Amino acid sequence: MALKDSIAKYMDAGYPMFYINTFEESKTESMLKSIADGRRVAIWSIAGGYSEYDTKNNEYLISQNKDDAFELQNVLERKLCDENELNRSILIIKDAHIVLENEEVKAALKEIAVKISEGLDSCVVLISSVVTIPVELEKYITILENDYLGFGEIRDIIKGFAEDNGINALNPTLLDELAVALKGLSEYEILNFLSLALADDGELTRKDLSLIFEQKKQMILKSGTLEMISLNESINDIGGLENLKKWLIRKSAIITNIPAAEEFGVDMPKGVLIAGVPGCGKSLCAKATAKLFEIPLLRLDIGKLMGKYLGESEANFRKAINLAEAISPCVLWVDELEKAFAGIGGDGGHEVTTRLFGSFLTWMQEKTSAVFVVATANDITKLPPELLRKGRFDEIFYVGLPNNSERAKIFDIHIKKRRKNAKIDISRLVSKTDGYSGADIEGVVKEAVESAFANKKDELSTEDILDAIKNTNSLSVIMKDSLDRMKKEYENRKLKNASA
Ligand code: ATP
Repeated sequence: MALKDSIAKYMDAGYPMFYINTFEESKTESMLKSIADGRRVAIWSIAGGYSEYDTKNNEYLISQNKDDAFELQNVLERKLCDENELNRSILIIKDAHIVLENEEVKAALKEIAVKISEGLDSCVVLISSVVTIPVELEKYITILENDYLGFGEIRDIIKGFAEDNGINALNPTLLDELAVALKGLSEYEILNFLSLALADDGELTRKDLSLIFEQKKQMILKSGTLEMISLNESINDIGGLENLKKWLIRKSAIITNIPAAEEFGVDMPKGVLIAGVPGCGKSLCAKATAKLFEIPLLRLDIGKLMGKYLGESEANFRKAINLAEAISPCVLWVDELEKAFAGIGGDGGHEVTTRLFGSFLTWMQEKTSAVFVVATANDITKLPPELLRKGRFDEIFYVGLPNNSERAKIFDIHIKKRRKNAKIDISRLVSKTDGYSGADIEGVVKEAVESAFANKKDELSTEDILDAIKNTNSLSVIMKDSLDRMKKEYENRKLKNASA
């Protein structure tokens, strides 16, 4: 449901207080005025102080700004003394995260919330780009996210921008490409990015897409919940894991052709959980998936969502998910899943983590958007069983240590990346590296190339790599016990092996 509709519904149902998490203050203010339904709209901000807007005649009332109206606390106390000041009104408070640090403001808002809960026709809307909900107000506040712009709206903004700047009609393909690149951004950010793109040569061209992509990466990073990752690795950079690769290629036929797949009745894929031995290509697969699907890759660090205020972590989670859905189709990579949700349900289960886990499960279960989740985990035994049940992920794959033919392919990939023309006897390397992970193999090749260079050799040789192998302890030696335990667990659970 759009923000406008949901807030109108909550308001009619007598909810006292809303917290709208947005950068777009003026757009939100206009939206609130449009649903005021004859109520007075009072607005307070740090810079503007207090003012009132008459929604019947669409005009600002003579500002009641006195010197003391810049102090929110005075405004709230005046309203508490005279209920007529509150009745049939919407009180909008901007810069909420700053003013909610004040004890008197918190106490007055609580009193107002109680009055509204008891039947007064009013509501308070707190607006801020940062969610900070004090415990005292937690049970009165409903957190809402501003809507992201739809594809059509973004196209209209670009067209409007082009017209305003005297740019001839944009070619429709470029217009669509720009709109896709600008998904997930606010109108303010879109106009800024377009101005920046225009500034260098006075034109909007395909060249500007990479500039927009870089700027968007920064914006997403600043939002604090997601990170946009550049796509450098492809499916051909993964040695082995043939079952998993085949499965991903099948899903790519859907994701790269969503309208036709939907038309045919294909369900939108939810995603995949890739679990198993460290350094064996799980992260590599997450990155290669986005490249294969030709869509952006967003990384979600669940640990970073944890906030100090009650409800803040779930609000951050919703914010991340809303952003991912606005950018969709995209791959959402949830890294180190077991670290985020370890111990849930047991004695050590932390309340916030448990609630966050609940939100994640519900979202996965109900998800119909084109956000393809790739979750990676080292130790599946630490994950709560609910996560592994049907309906959450489309499939769970186990990644073990690479077998002989996989090690041969991994050696080949990493040698070719560095020394294309080297003549190496890979079968000799394979026979000496049983128990090595993909990361171990990459490490060995790197070291051999470095030492061949240091020893002023013309080319990398098989012997250089064999020497590096001698100096390396394989993962299976370092982690023998836990690898054996993991392997047994995966066999017991009959998980699909990523390798053929
Ligand atoms: P962790 O659980 O420790 O995060 P991981 O399973 O995600 O490990 P990756 O980060 O994907 O492991 O692997 C580390 C590096 O090792 C990769 O960047 C890649 O260079 C190399 N590597 C691992 N497995 C493979 C593979 N199957 N094919 C090619 N390279 C591999």
